[in-house]
Amino acid sequence: MHRRRAVSWLALMPLAAAAGLGGCARQQPYQQFEGATMGTRYHVRFRPPARSFDAAALQRAVDARLEALNASLSTYRTDSLITAFNDAPVGQLVPADADFEHMLALSRQVHHASAGAFDPTVGALVNLWGFGWPKPRDPLTRLPDPAAIEAARARFDAVEQPGAGQLLKREPLRLDFSAIAKGYGVDLIAEVIRSHGVEHFMAEIGGEVATRGEGPAGGPWRIGIEAPDLVVSGRILARVKLGEGALATSGNYRNFFELEGRRFSHVIDPVTGYPVARPPVSVSVIAPNVALADAWATAFMVLDEERGLAIAEQNQLAVFWVYDDNGGRRTRLSSRMQPYLDMVQP
Ligand code: ADP
Ligand code: MG
Repeated sequence: MHRRRAVSWLALMPLAAAAGLGGCARQQPYQQFEGATMGTRYHVRFRPPARSFDAAALQRAVDARLEALNASLSTYRTDSLITAFNDAPVGQLVPADADFEHMLALSRQVHHASAGAFDPTVGALVNLWGFGWPKPRDPLTRLPDPAAIEAARARFDAVEQPGAGQLLKREPLRLDFSAIAKGYGVDLIAEVIRSHGVEHFMAEIGGEVATRGEGPAGGPWRIGIEAPDLVVSGRILARVKLGEGALATSGNYRNFFELEGRRFSHVIDPVTGYPVARPPVSVSVIAPNVALADAWATAFMVLDEERGLAIAEQNQLAVFWVYDDNGGRRTRLSSRMQPYLDMVQP
């Protein structure tokens, strides 16, 4: 689930090194902290509003908020609300908290706007194709049979919300918010940071990013989009300028398996039940919040090139695609992405 970091944190370090050099003398130098969450790490970089600012208290508040989110939505945990929902039989009422309901609402929005390409009820398919948690000990040695794929198929319309704080499934299904929850986690970190009076910051979980105010070099934050290499290289393929912004990237270049000479992506086409056959190498999306950017980035892994571009324009999304054309690299952007691009590696 979290083997890649499409946005390179390392790549920001040269810019970060400029902290405290530029700007007015009374500004506080940038600080940073990080921690573990959602099977990966989060990073926060910020300019404290005053010298007396309590960064440890901020980090505690961030950790507490992420902990509450994971208690609700983590499929890694046997005691989370989502695991209770997934393990519940058809028709049984299961409790849902506000985070859970919010994820369902945002997911439905992207599900409809993406013609079903994004669907958090892919949980059973994700397990069937060997991308679930706990990770299967051995890789798949043969393709799942069509009957099993049919039985595991995505069915978002079978998730019912009979009342506030209540959920049930009308048919067997499993929810998986892996493609949106990290983004939402970043939105929550940003909310906590702002509530502590911080105006200039960047927050990131596993490559999904929120920014606000100025970066350490002055002016908007400049975020590198990592070159799609098999190993973490820290090489930058493109860079975007973000003032108050939300950026997420979905990549197929590290999380996949190979079987019978074919490569299978960890992103699944909810309509066919099969891993996407020839997805883009990576897709980066700028959206009104990181949860939406994250979900859309996954949706664009499923949608083919022409459809994806049309849907990006319809939904006024800034999107940057990287394709592999017989070993060569080709990039494409929606019209809204152009103004954000600071640099694209030839
Ligand atoms: P990552 O989790 O590696 O950052 P993504 O944000 O693209 O990458 O999420 C991919 C994960 O989302 C998969 O591992 C799977 O758990 C889940 N998923 C796969 N296909 C879909 C889909 N079509 N819609 C929603 N979630 C999906
Ligand atoms: Mg995603």
